[in-house]
Amino acid sequence: MPEMPDKNAIEVRDVSKLFGTGDAQFAALDNVSVSIRENEFFTLLGPSGCGKTTLLRLIAGFDYPTDGQILLYGQDIAPLPPFKRPVNTVFQSYALFPHMTVGQNIAFGLEMLGKPKAEIEARVAEMLKLVRMEALKDRKTSQISGGQQQRVALARALAPQPKVLLLDEPLSALDYKLRKEMQIELKRLQHETGITFIFVTHDQEEALTMSDRIAVMSAGKILQVGSPWDIYDRPAVRFVADFIGETNFLHADVVSANDGRATVRLSSGKEIPATFPSGSSPQGKVTLVVRPEHARVAAPNGTSAHVGHIENVVYLGTDTHFHVRLDDGTPFIVRQQNSRNGHNGFAKAERVGIEFGQDVAQILKD
Ligand code: ATP
Repeated sequence: MPEMPDKNAIEVRDVSKLFGTGDAQFAALDNVSVSIRENEFFTLLGPSGCGKTTLLRLIAGFDYPTDGQILLYGQDIAPLPPFKRPVNTVFQSYALFPHMTVGQNIAFGLEMLGKPKAEIEARVAEMLKLVRMEALKDRKTSQISGGQQQRVALARALAPQPKVLLLDEPLSALDYKLRKEMQIELKRLQHETGITFIFVTHDQEEALTMSDRIAVMSAGKILQVGSPWDIYDRPAVRFVADFIGETNFLHADVVSANDGRATVRLSSGKEIPATFPSGSSPQGKVTLVVRPEHARVAAPNGTSAHVGHIENVVYLGTDTHFHVRLDDGTPFIVRQQNSRNGHNGFAKAERVGIEFGQDVAQILKD
């Protein structure tokens, strides 16, 4: 794991944002608190309408919180208008000036700040090099491709050396291949400039690939903040487990729980170890989450956590998905890597046992 600096670039403290009036009033952000560290690639991930853009707009200063505070390096930024904040935004639509050249677009923010001509020229050259667009400096932005426009938008936003760059779904207009390329490019730019990036997406794969940490949002709240590993392997609540990748949910009873480790009894009667999120103290009936690739199917035997029958087998080249119906009626998906000489040898309707690896079951918070 890379070592993380612990200085906070942005602190969002108890921020709420209400829209509408009277009965129609609702909270686009509902008492949100989160700290974003300096030099971090931080992602706000959640479904459409969960409040991601609203939070970015408050940080940028395009709108004001109804309640709460936003601090930039410890200073409350409420009194600062957007152009006085050391924060810049890259929009989904790029918002480039079509009648200007690539170079003029990149120079724009610096000219607004009244920087000397020589400094602007040097900075534009540096930015063109950073985004690998030197050859297209004098081309109008209406005459370059979508991917190239994206690079210009990034260069324009980075040129005034903001402390924080806000990126609102900047890759969503690109086709799949270009999007993959730009994901790598964005990571490189963040690494080379050392600027804190706050990236908004509703694409869980994109969030897992790019981020140092992810905040998963739903209905105006942040449900969990953590590294991609935390979010994928240690989801705290059902929404996070469900939103990120494929997941199995199992019922269990807690036998004992201490120090983040528990023993739980499955409906099969089998007892297995499980982890649980810090700050919770599970007891009684709980829901467990197990990722499909952390379980395997085998001939039923004394070590099987559950027994069931295969309802469907989906061969996917490197992997096979087994859709199993457990004896207690719960559906359960196993994703198993195929061996070199073919598939895994279990067929539809066959009875199988489910086996778990070590530490793969996580107890969800209520
Ligand atoms: P998307 O991924 O679709 O952009 P989002 O997570 O960014 O969604 P927001 O744009 O932050 O969501 O919107 C959160 C909620 O607030 C939505 O229900 C939206 O309709 C509402 N909303 C946003 N701006 C306003 C506004 N100016 N007036 C009224 N409602 C608004």
